[in-house]
Amino acid sequence: MPSKAHGWGVENAEDTIHALQFERRDPRANDVTVEISHCGICHSDLHFAHNDWGMSHYPMVPGHEIVGTVTAVGPDVQNFKVGDRVGVGCMVDSCQKCEFCKGNQEQFCVEGATFTYGVPDRHGELTQGGYSDHVLVREEFVCKIPDGMEMSKAAPLLCAGITTYSPLKRWGVKPGTKVAVAGLGGLGHMAVKIAAAMGGEVTVLTTSPEKAEAAKKVGASHVLVSTDEAAMGAATASFDLIVDTIPVTHPIDPYAALLRPNGTLVIVGALEPLPGVSGFNLIFGNRAVAGSAIGGVAETQEMLDFCAEHGIEPEIELIKGEQIPDAWETLTKGDIPHRFVIDVENSARG
Ligand code: NAP
Ligand code: ZN
Ligand code: ZN
Repeated sequence: MPSKAHGWGVENAEDTIHALQFERRDPRANDVTVEISHCGICHSDLHFAHNDWGMSHYPMVPGHEIVGTVTAVGPDVQNFKVGDRVGVGCMVDSCQKCEFCKGNQEQFCVEGATFTYGVPDRHGELTQGGYSDHVLVREEFVCKIPDGMEMSKAAPLLCAGITTYSPLKRWGVKPGTKVAVAGLGGLGHMAVKIAAAMGGEVTVLTTSPEKAEAAKKVGASHVLVSTDEAAMGAATASFDLIVDTIPVTHPIDPYAALLRPNGTLVIVGALEPLPGVSGFNLIFGNRAVAGSAIGGVAETQEMLDFCAEHGIEPEIELIKGEQIPDAWETLTKGDIPHRFVIDVENSARG
């Protein structure tokens, strides 16, 4: 039987987010049903809702930083039981057979991974995300929230955490690595915390001088204001790795120039064309510009356990459902150095 769900969503790309009711699909044998307690607000939710990437379907209930408690499991579910504390990130399905699924990179499934919301799933039904009271997800895409981790603080790890952990790990951050993080928002502040926990010496590259204090508080040793040309010039060839979380297109060269020889600039924020890459700057220094998309499910679990072990928690601002439109407005301006998290369990039902 389909179930009635209450959430917050949009009917089209121009709509303002509002409370709405919708139907969740029939449970399947391998489904875990999760009563959602909290959901983080990722900048991607705005991109998707506004159809910035041309792949959105409506009506859309966003949200892919989902945590909650298991309330039911299908007969084929092996690893979860009622009462478990769990999390769901950006994906809810994939083929499970291709080389990338088998290699724990479901995000690159050759048949296409199914995103948590805003797309038709592998059965043709529209997926709907975590700005809502419950969700059904096949068990391979469900993670366990480590004991002792606060649910509200676990939520942002499901996207902001894994999206920054994955490149920091892949590019081998270790004690002494000079890491820079461009953009101190939801992803950026997690990148600082995780890189610092890996032993990196972290610099925040920000357009907002007033975020300097917040940058230091989350573990940055240095802050560089990216609009200060003299300071940027003085920082030429300073970093082994730059994680670039800026959500819109921007020139690449000013950031690539900050790399030491053999360094890498990893783009995780902007999907648009990125202008101004100088071949000269890349060649003379063996510098690389790379990208990184979220992380697989096993790596997401590894990241959750890493954060629990190192006491890493996101900085959050808990909001009620009716505050989502204001939070989106604030995110559009890039104003906050932390994550908004919707207190779903204590919000009035739409
Ligand atoms: P966010 O909280 O809004 O933070 C983005 C930060 O970038 C802002 O706080 C701001 O920091 C800076 N910024 C904003 N506008 C800028 C501009 N015009 N020029 C330069 N800097 C600007 O966003 P988020 O949730 O961290 O997401 C960041 C991006 O990552 C989004 O585009 C999102 O869609 C994407 N994303 C990608 C993946 C992936 O798999 N690769 C996963 C999740 C999210 P300062 O004030 O410090 O400059
Ligand atoms: Zn996200
Ligand atoms: Zn696959």
